Amino acid sequence: MKLNIQDTFNQELPADPNKNNTRRQVMEACYSFVTPKIPSHPKLVHVSTEMANELGFDNLDINSQSFLDTFTGSRVTPNTHPYAMCYGGHQFGHWAGQLGDGRAINLMEVVEKNKRWALQLKGAGATPYSRTADGLAVLRSSIREHLCSEAMHHLGVPTTRSLSLCLSGDKVLRDVMYDGNADYEKGAIVCRVAPSFIRFGNFQIFASRGDYKNMKILTDYTIKHFFPTIKNDDKSKYILFFNEVLDRTLKMIIDWQRVGFVHGVMNTDNLSILGLTIDYGPYGWLEGFDKNWTPNTTDRQNKRYRFGNQPSIALWNLYQLANALFPLVENPKPFEQALEKYKKNYVFLFHEMMKSKLGIEHNEEEDHQLIVEVENTLSLIETDMTIFYRSLSNIKKSDNLKTAFNKIKDSFYDEDLCTFKVKLKWNKWLENYLSRIQKEKLSDAERKKNMDLVNPKYVLRNYMAQLAIDKADQGDYSLINKLYELLKFPYQEQPSQEKWFAKRPEWARHKVGCSMLSCSS
Ligand code: AMP
Ligand code: MG
Repeated sequence: MKLNIQDTFNQELPADPNKNNTRRQVMEACYSFVTPKIPSHPKLVHVSTEMANELGFDNLDINSQSFLDTFTGSRVTPNTHPYAMCYGGHQFGHWAGQLGDGRAINLMEVVEKNKRWALQLKGAGATPYSRTADGLAVLRSSIREHLCSEAMHHLGVPTTRSLSLCLSGDKVLRDVMYDGNADYEKGAIVCRVAPSFIRFGNFQIFASRGDYKNMKILTDYTIKHFFPTIKNDDKSKYILFFNEVLDRTLKMIIDWQRVGFVHGVMNTDNLSILGLTIDYGPYGWLEGFDKNWTPNTTDRQNKRYRFGNQPSIALWNLYQLANALFPLVENPKPFEQALEKYKKNYVFLFHEMMKSKLGIEHNEEEDHQLIVEVENTLSLIETDMTIFYRSLSNIKKSDNLKTAFNKIKDSFYDEDLCTFKVKLKWNKWLENYLSRIQKEKLSDAERKKNMDLVNPKYVLRNYMAQLAIDKADQGDYSLINKLYELLKFPYQEQPSQEKWFAKRPEWARHKVGCSMLSCSS
């Protein structure tokens, strides 16, 4: 297995001089060196061949002992210096102080096909940032992270990736619903991959400690390696940097809203500085369209991170990042302007994204109302978001109301709930929709083609991941690969896989792991 190792983070940035793996506050350093825990019986469960190929690994590499050793932390690759990053964060709106990579260990950076990739193990043991926890991860959450990162990538949503999923062979104690019923589960290790894992919180921790010297070093490093178009060398570069982080974050959020993804824990330590979806914990996919839905039971009361709140939470997080970076610029105006721009751009980009979901190309005055009303109407009775939008592209300009309605009615969870009043509202919306698409130049077939490229047919529904988990718990890992293969082509019709284009089954409605997820992972 050949690795073109080109470390930068642990070469160019200040390290914690203390090399002991004891839990502590780490000052004036971006990371601490740490060695992964050696797993007792490591076993490969699944590899993303797509990601492996990006990294230059062929089948022989994937099946080699060296691959297993490297990506389970059994052996540290010569000339590499694994480390855990120091960061802080606002959790659920409150400053939480130092957090850091409590169960993530960065192995190395490699450059392959002109792309830089950081390789990071999640669940490979404790670090100085583990606080009171064990640094380990369980199989169920690792399956969820592995499958979803790759599925999001194939959906075209900016995301960290996942190379491999392995069993450690060790048992991990977890209290899934935090109700005193702790039990042992299988331990697992995922190898995550991204150009960088730097988060908003990496900057915040220095700002919170008044350590602007190191914040500047980290910011300059980030710009140099990951924002190469920024060439300015005065304070203005930090403004350009903030603007680009803001634009990338907004783009990611628009994609989340497009596909119905709810992150679940949008704390500032879980927001990537590169605008990538990161830290797949208690995430979920909208089944019934509901702006108030969150899968995270830990957030059940306030629903801070509910679907409809994601755009404004991202903005709130960007305010925190602006506060952190402010000392590098000492002028609030350009930050305020950027944050104002987010609001304006959000309105525009959301509108454009919704138009694409509806198959509308040019602009008409009525479009705004059509978009507002589709969301209102979708919220009347439980209606499957994915099935609705995918079915909508089957409507033809010449359809009458009855035909059009019949094409979308399979997205209702319970057709009996579609009362006369609800049907009236759908008919009203469909009437407007039909007259609107009649104004479009594209043919029905062309419109369908465009719509089917933005409205996925297959997403990792919460119950699908849970089915893979239940099987894996019994030692059958086959569904992991089946779902991985299915989700490689989320926008394509896959006739043999039609069973996954279905509403959530009733058994999954209130099942732990399907509609209810905690942060315990
Ligand atoms: P999260 O909510 O997953 O983003 O985690 C918040 C913080 O807790 C981060 O600093 C994580 O590294 C840390 N953390 C979460 N789970 C564990 C664990 N099992 N062991 C050590 N640290 C953890
Ligand atoms: Mg996290």
